[in-house]
Amino acid sequence: MPIYAYECRFCGSTLEVEQRMTDKPLSGCPKCKKRNALIRLVQPVAVHFHGSGFHVNDYAKSGDKPKKSEKAKT
Ligand SMILES: [Zn+2]
Repeated sequence: MPIYAYECRFCGSTLEVEQRMTDKPLSGCPKCKKRNALIRLVQPVAVHFHGSGFHVNDYAKSGDKPKKSEKAKT
């Protein structure tokens, strides 16, 4: 399940929520309780917030294919 990051435009707090793509995006801020406060940050996932772990993982995945085909050659 993808994790979405939201930022409240009123109090500036950020939160991350695990949601299905089909779930409705959140709009109410749990901190300041304002409605329509949350802005969903487009690039989700945690790269920004949790350091490099996620990013490296992702990179390794996408870089995996060419390596394999290279191995298959030899
Ligand atoms: Zn807020």
